[in-house]
Amino acid sequence: MKSKTGSIFNIQRFSVHDGPGIRTTVFFKGCPLSCWWCHNPECRSEFNIPQNNRYNKKFATGELLAEIKRDRIFYEESGGGVTFSGGEPLMQPAFLKTMLVLCKEEGLHTAVDTSGFGNQEDFRILAKNAELWLFDLKIMNSAEHLKYTGVGNKIILSNLELLLSEQVNLIIRIPLIPGITATSENIQKIVVFLSSFSHKPKVNLLPFHRIADGKYEKLGLQNKMLKTPGNSQKDSEKLKDIFLAGGFDCEINA
Ligand code: SF4
Repeated sequence: MKSKTGSIFNIQRFSVHDGPGIRTTVFFKGCPLSCWWCHNPECRSEFNIPQNNRYNKKFATGELLAEIKRDRIFYEESGGGVTFSGGEPLMQPAFLKTMLVLCKEEGLHTAVDTSGFGNQEDFRILAKNAELWLFDLKIMNSAEHLKYTGVGNKIILSNLELLLSEQVNLIIRIPLIPGITATSENIQKIVVFLSSFSHKPKVNLLPFHRIADGKYEKLGLQNKMLKTPGNSQKDSEKLKDIFLAGGFDCEINA
């Protein structure tokens, strides 16, 4: 297979929250969204200069595969694998596809963590190439989605619809951002939307943590979440109960 080059801003080994088992998470550079609560603001394209810096490393497919394979023994022992995240991995669809195919040939379990904002044809092509999709859902009201993430949600919902109709293995991930995504009204709307599909996906709720404050300061970016407190366990449980009442398998991640 012809080698391609991709832009990667981080590789995290021994991840335990991005799919089953112990995983290597590969963070693709670039994201079309600009969520107020983003934990990885360094993924944005503006941190691109010079071309090969600590926030933007170029990898050939074979080179990245060798990095991923270094921890094969841990994947085998834990039922883990590799997760392609970002940023938005669908912004580099050809590179992503080649990596998924190469990993499959090596017998490595693959997951793609996506914002859902991407070209529908790319989603169609890639749908069956990943063994697991981690699909982020944020806000059901499109105007609010635009306000807090920089894009409306129409494309995202339509790509989710496509993946669900293809019956891929998919987990919905919802960041619980106090007062923004983590409201009963928003969660209720997500339940209604997801209930319209014949197959009910699993749902993971991701509580908000203030772990990125230092990054915003270092990069000189405005941190719009500076005054937002973390979620209380009680509030997260209440939102989880809405999913359980709707018949969904729902967990709160650490
Ligand atoms: S979609 Fe994810 S990576 Fe992109 S800006 Fe939002 S939180 Fe950050």
